[in-house]
Amino acid sequence: MRLRNITGSRETIAQSGFVIQQPELLRGQWRREFGGDGPLAAEIGMGKGQFLMEMARRYPQIGFIGIEKYSSVLLRAVQKMEADPLPNVRLVRMEAEEIETVFSEGELDRIYLNFSDPWPKDRHAKRRLPSAAFLARYDRVLKKDGELEFKTDNRELFDFAVEELQTAGWKIRELTYDLHSDPRLSRDNVMTEYEERFSAKGNPICKYIIGR
Ligand code: SAH
Repeated sequence: MRLRNITGSRETIAQSGFVIQQPELLRGQWRREFGGDGPLAAEIGMGKGQFLMEMARRYPQIGFIGIEKYSSVLLRAVQKMEADPLPNVRLVRMEAEEIETVFSEGELDRIYLNFSDPWPKDRHAKRRLPSAAFLARYDRVLKKDGELEFKTDNRELFDFAVEELQTAGWKIRELTYDLHSDPRLSRDNVMTEYEERFSAKGNPICKYIIGR
């Protein structure tokens, strides 16, 4: 998701109390940041934050951390948070590749990837957020019995993601090629912005939940 570079977005982000400006300083301390010892979940590539914020409303005991690379996109989430503040949400502008500088080993209980960029060219496969290279990073920051959930309507990306699991040593706990037609898996489903857009076009949504 690329938006035109909105003038002043960096300034707005720098001034928001919901945005963690130096996330490295919270490495190993995120639970304390949320004022307790509850579970921690991160959405990597959170976009405008619809999923993250609805999850935070439904699960107030969980601390949700939204990670987004672009200020212009993060700005939208910041504006929503300013309008409707949620105490259990924090936002971080960063490149997912650096996730280990921000979370200590086993610090996260859950990771969400929603509608990650497909990077269709073979030579860009390593940039795909569900690639084996990224799974190795998630493996370190996710606690032992933690889980990772991935949703996309892009079948090529999903097939790639499933193939990457074997090499990376992860196991499938749940898998569907049509989430919205699966009564059990869709029961507590929270729609992301992309999910609303693409399912309205008739695209089935693929999802897996994995663990080690
Ligand atoms: N999760 C949202 C947005 C999906 S678009 C939804 O489902 O509606 C993918 C988002 O991931 C974009 O906002 C993009 O900027 C962000 N993103 C892509 N690669 C990233 C990376 N390496 N690190 C952090 N964010 C990334």
